[in-house]
Amino acid sequence: MSLPISQTRVAILGGGPCGLYAARVLSRAGIAVTVLDKGARPGGLATSHQRGNNWYDMGCHMLHEFDNEIYQDMMALMGDESIPVQLDAKIRWAGSFYRYPLQFQDMIRGIPPATLIHNCLGLFAAQIRSSLVPWTPKNAEEALIMLYGHPLYEFFFKDFTHRYWGIHPSQLSATFITTKMPRLSAVDVIKRALGKIGIKDRSVKAVDSALLDETLHYSRTGAEAMPRHIAKAVTAAGGQIIQNAEVTQLIHNPDTGRVTHVQYHHEGADHTLACDECISTIPIPHLLLRASPPPPDPVLTAASEIRYKPIAIYGLLVKKTKCIDGLYIYYRDRAFHRVGEPKNAGLIVNPPDHTVLIVETTCEIGDPKWNATPDAKDQIFADLELENICHRDDIVETHILHSETGYPLFSLGFEPHLDQLKSWIASISNLQSVGRQGGFTYPNMHSAMRMGAKAADAALKRLTAA
Ligand SMILES: Cc1cc2nc3c(=O)[nH]c(=O)nc-3n(C[C@H](O)[C@H](O)[C@H](O)COP(=O)(O)OP(=O)(O)OC[C@H]3O[C@@H](n4cnc5c(N)ncnc54)[C@H](O)[C@@H]3O)c2cc1C
Repeated sequence: MSLPISQTRVAILGGGPCGLYAARVLSRAGIAVTVLDKGARPGGLATSHQRGNNWYDMGCHMLHEFDNEIYQDMMALMGDESIPVQLDAKIRWAGSFYRYPLQFQDMIRGIPPATLIHNCLGLFAAQIRSSLVPWTPKNAEEALIMLYGHPLYEFFFKDFTHRYWGIHPSQLSATFITTKMPRLSAVDVIKRALGKIGIKDRSVKAVDSALLDETLHYSRTGAEAMPRHIAKAVTAAGGQIIQNAEVTQLIHNPDTGRVTHVQYHHEGADHTLACDECISTIPIPHLLLRASPPPPDPVLTAASEIRYKPIAIYGLLVKKTKCIDGLYIYYRDRAFHRVGEPKNAGLIVNPPDHTVLIVETTCEIGDPKWNATPDAKDQIFADLELENICHRDDIVETHILHSETGYPLFSLGFEPHLDQLKSWIASISNLQSVGRQGGFTYPNMHSAMRMGAKAADAALKRLTAA
């Protein structure tokens, strides 16, 4: 017996910020849109999860104001559920706290003079080298040395990068630096000074990081309020959002080069949705593996080369009114790389004399951190004690949140594989793969939403031209 087929004009795969915002743009334009999302609630990585009496983010998620149009739209949708918060982040480095983004004056104050001079000389040498003999770094290690010099690479980046990604920087692509690694504004100051005496900066460019005086937006229930409001607006405009709907097949017609249907699993049954356009925000290799008929073997082989770094987030309810000074602190040499305290951004915590800590770790699926083994927890709790954040006896609840695809992993040589996947997708005229997972890139929420808006505009243009 064949399954009943429902219809939509645009099928959106994945209901994170990118997919939801694409649905927002399309539903506002009166297009019938259906979002299929395998999560229990909208928002993807950027939602919060209710455990016990509290909300826990998958890593503290705060909205930046950089995209004014999206920001204004979000403020209008969220109304008084949005709380403006001054960025207050720190980096724990060599026994001191530094403001994030790292400032030149803090660096001068905090680092022992001999180390500072050594690092500055290294940076100076790196600048002269790339100024005289421009070179193309072969991997992330070379790109970091080119950007910061050998001593600063050894002092600040090498071990941290290795521990964070689980692979040595020499095995990471140089693209990682230009796409993910935030620029050190302190180093920019030195580079500008060198520029004034004629030593040009010809190194690769890292990413602009957050601004020191930036205002972020949060809510009393954490990250979940924003996707909840977008989803509500989409449904109010006639769109459909189906949660707990895992996309299992992307059915396309090789003769016409078009997606015709999407199959998904929902409430114990398989369903089929016919569509005119498809915007996918699910991990790009997963999309290829679900294509029917399957792409050619070399494309499937390329898909198996595209990997993500999983994350395990430890959400802790702590019997203390406050644990850290600020919104979050980055750590270089602990079992975690960032600890956030969302209560300091307005999260309501129950009971009120307790607080919530969001402890972020990268891991592998099934390893001790992923499984939260007693040893892994012990290491995390011991490091929290060493950093005077809280004592293990104060931790009254521990909730583990996972994402198998937390970070795109830019391992050495991934680029041609990704290009192969993207060319196959480009061969299907009504299919787009965008967002953090679908584009295999590192947007913040506002940039992911902008990607969704652009994909929606492209689909809209084709639909109205047809
Ligand atoms: C630890 C951490 C902290 C962060 N903090 C911030 C921050 O403070 N501010 C900020 O702006 N950004 C932050 N980000 C980035 C932010 O998470 C991303 O920009 C955003 O989530 C990207 O949205 P997306 O829709 O592209 O992807 P995702 O949020 O990953 O959404 C993808 C969606 O696809 C769905 N999906 C996957 N497979 C299937 C399938 N087969 N069928 C159906 N659905 C499927 C998933 O359920 C998910 O909902 C942070 C990221 C991390 C990892």
